[in-house]
Amino acid sequence: MSRGGMRYGAGRPSSKLKAEHLLRVEIGRWHRGGYLHAGRSFTWSWHRSDEPTGNIGVVVHGADSLALQYMVGSDDQRRDASQTIRLAHTACNYGKSRPWFVCPVCQRRAGVLYMRAGRFACRHCQRVAYSSQAEDAMTRTWRLQRRIEETIGEDWQRPSGMRHRTYARLLNQLEACQQKRDAAFCVAAAGLLRRIGVRDLAR
Ligand SMILES: [Zn+2]
Repeated sequence: MSRGGMRYGAGRPSSKLKAEHLLRVEIGRWHRGGYLHAGRSFTWSWHRSDEPTGNIGVVVHGADSLALQYMVGSDDQRRDASQTIRLAHTACNYGKSRPWFVCPVCQRRAGVLYMRAGRFACRHCQRVAYSSQAEDAMTRTWRLQRRIEETIGEDWQRPSGMRHRTYARLLNQLEACQQKRDAAFCVAAAGLLRRIGVRDLAR
């Protein structure tokens, strides 16, 4: 498959999986929770309807990488797997920075990585499908983000000569893009929970 084929929507739709069916890791949660300190290791658990569905070990090497440690395979053939993920940082307001995963396949920044076939990668590389409503919302935010990044670059640094107020406004817009994408995912997840609920009642 050519690199160009990774654009969302290209390729074989039949192989797409719904986002909410895949295990995922979110760098934003770990950042907000204060987990991302060099040398720190922690266990992150996944849940579905309050039931634990698995967990993953995380070892933070430093500001530029971490390791994910997990089990793959079915019950009778389990094995340990480990994947090192590079991290990137972009500026945000008040001199702070926001961390990102660097997708190990396409090397682009991603806030969320999904596990498929025992490896983690971004939603484009894993061919993750969202609901069309969530997809539209996310496409709009990515379009806006790309426009802003044409001005301040992919590392979100203030170009010399740009007024601080203008720069702060652009950073706020980027932050809003990220939040809208998180919210769009929640819409997709809520749909799944409803479907599970209906199936349980029918049993
Ligand atoms: Zn990728």
